Amino acid sequence: MIQVLDATLREGEQTPGVYFDNHIKLAIANLLDQIGVDIIESGHPIVTAEIYDAVKTIANKGFNSTIGAHSRSVKKDVEAALECGVDFLGIFYCVSDERLNGVFKKDLNQAIEQISDVIQFAKKEKPNLIIRYTPEDTVRSSFENVVKAATGAVKAGADVISIADTTGFMVPGTKNNFYDYVINLRAALKENGCEPKIAVHCHNDKGLALANALDGYRAGADIIDATVLGIGERAGIVDLAELLVVLTTNFGVEKFDLAKLPELYKLVSKHSGIPVSQNYPIIGENAFTHCAGVHTHAAAKNPMHYESLNPELVNRERKFSLDHMSGIASIKFALKILDITDLLPEEELQILEEVKKIGQRGRTVELSEIPLIVDSIKHSKHFYKKTK
Ligand SMILES: [Zn+2]
Repeated sequence: MIQVLDATLREGEQTPGVYFDNHIKLAIANLLDQIGVDIIESGHPIVTAEIYDAVKTIANKGFNSTIGAHSRSVKKDVEAALECGVDFLGIFYCVSDERLNGVFKKDLNQAIEQISDVIQFAKKEKPNLIIRYTPEDTVRSSFENVVKAATGAVKAGADVISIADTTGFMVPGTKNNFYDYVINLRAALKENGCEPKIAVHCHNDKGLALANALDGYRAGADIIDATVLGIGERAGIVDLAELLVVLTTNFGVEKFDLAKLPELYKLVSKHSGIPVSQNYPIIGENAFTHCAGVHTHAAAKNPMHYESLNPELVNRERKFSLDHMSGIASIKFALKILDITDLLPEEELQILEEVKKIGQRGRTVELSEIPLIVDSIKHSKHFYKKTK
């Protein structure tokens, strides 16, 4: 069964200007746990004392989700993570010859030795620790180097190899696609006697993070990384709500409680300062609002005419709003919902006229506003008759 790793507290904090206070981190972890996310990446404990405390608190809270920490390929990072009590450790190290020679003054074999040492050390300290090794910028690095480093990591005790599209480079259907990458990496590792789980970490620089992740899933990836609101470095990564909804409704994965998503998004949006745009899928204000006249008419009869997703699944409601696109059917439908039954046909037309005028000024009319319009129309008519 596919596993989802949420990295809001780690990758998410790499968004410029985003930092969650520890009590907010705990509240986010709590909701992720209730939703049923498999792994929560809670932070990189060596970075600051506050992050160390947050990781330790979350790891000791008794959540069902597996709690993970991030770590460079150095022992002191691993020690800090183990002190915090995490059950999952994500270790990363680059494998590109250019970076190894230029930045670390090492060759690939020396790098693999360091990665293996650190993994062996971590496994010795905590034998049931799940270890993920990520060759940084995997998909743009030499495939041969990736296979060598991943093989070394798995032989040293790594359980998961993560394919990181660190720069959002991959595009489904082209020669650089996740489907082929997952298949090829798995085959090459198997040839070396290694059968780790495969994770996919997809950045959204071209808006293709979810498409790439699903491409990898189709090829048999075991773990998909995501964050709330898709936050992360630059354009971020896969959006958690989109991923969970697609896995649930299109792939028959029935282990997530999607009803908690709006509450989680509200919390993360408030404390990251990143607003949810009106048209954001699943969570945005307009995600389940029908507006155009023909849509309203058809959706009122059978919502599936214009919806591929039932709003109740994510604890939301279908809404109808009225504007310059509305027709008389929309008005009749709104009046029916509001239980306003005493209007003459010409009064209904007057309401439509008013709604269209407001719509042309660039605003939509919510249902709650309709009784006010009715009142105003009735009153002006009465007044007109009296003065006449
Ligand atoms: Zn990332």
